[in-house]
Amino acid sequence: MARVYNFSAGPSMLPLEVLETAQKELIEFQDSGMSVMEMSHRSPVYDAIIKETEANFRKLMNIPDNYKVLFLQGGASTQFAAVPLNLMKTGKADYVVSGQFSGKAFKEAKKYGDAKCIATSEDKTFSYIPEITPDMVREDADYVHVCYNNTIFGTKFPEVPNVGDKVLVADMSSCITSEPVDVTKFGVIYAGAQKNMAPAGLTVVIIREDLMGNAREDIPTMLDYKTMADNDSMYNTPPCYAIYIAGLVYKWALENGGLEAMKERNEKKANILYDFLDNSTLFKPTAEKNSRSMMNVCFVTGDADLDKKFCKEASEAGFVNLKGHRSVGGMRASIYNAMPIEGVEALARFMAEFEKNNK
Ligand SMILES: *Cc1c(COP(=O)(O)O)cnc(C)c1O
Repeated sequence: MARVYNFSAGPSMLPLEVLETAQKELIEFQDSGMSVMEMSHRSPVYDAIIKETEANFRKLMNIPDNYKVLFLQGGASTQFAAVPLNLMKTGKADYVVSGQFSGKAFKEAKKYGDAKCIATSEDKTFSYIPEITPDMVREDADYVHVCYNNTIFGTKFPEVPNVGDKVLVADMSSCITSEPVDVTKFGVIYAGAQKNMAPAGLTVVIIREDLMGNAREDIPTMLDYKTMADNDSMYNTPPCYAIYIAGLVYKWALENGGLEAMKERNEKKANILYDFLDNSTLFKPTAEKNSRSMMNVCFVTGDADLDKKFCKEASEAGFVNLKGHRSVGGMRASIYNAMPIEGVEALARFMAEFEKNNK
């Protein structure tokens, strides 16, 4: 067996220990006589799995009791529609467009009401996070939407944006559980699980209870947070197996020191790469310093052919999926929780070697 260092932006690496546990439990989960993939989502065995998964997620993220956790399908992209359909009471919402996904969320919201872009970093190809102040927010906006970590451009909000007393909605797909966040500062947090928590197929939503029940009359039932909350994410069949794996990942994170420890490790990993890039004569980081992502490190050589050569040689050396998003090119090292420090150290050594050989 030769597992490579996989720098994919998502679906991405899972902790090896989690995969090993899943392998052990694959054919028969505990004494149930069947795989988690084969059991009814309404069985007592599965009920214990989903309850424990939620309990561990709440513990890990320190989620207060007045927030609901929903395990849904459809990916973060479905939330681009679900958010306005559920939360637009006056029909107005403000959006920060700091990358491709927040642009998509904004575009989707415009279908359902008066969505306004109050700040964007498009002028510099999304290489920074625009500053947000409460006076930029419309007084009658129902919420402000941000993408907390821009997976494609490798930028992240340096702190929770100040939107005054407005409800803050955050797409945290590529940074959730990478560090502690104060959940009380947000009305809704959502994330596709395939970046940092589980295989694809699961979308997690954390929502303050009082924000539910205001959905449009014509909202599809499957998108109504209240319906999903009232049914404990079991209005229909949930993504059972992905939830089970998420549960193993949450347990792994708790056993490894929780989010404080994740943050410390993630900072260390990101610093190894950014320190190297800041001192490199060949590679250049693309994100502005105060907006840098800990999870997605984007860089270029400035020469598309050399970028290509780098990705090819890196891949041959066991560092895979370093090619940047198809829309921006260059390179991107996604270093989520499951990426070990050794993987990042080895990549930095490989980059130094490549630099030496391509002067
Ligand atoms: C990957 C990603 C998405 C899209 O997620 P899907 O689950 O594929 O819909 C949205 N937002 C962010 C920040 C992402 O990283």
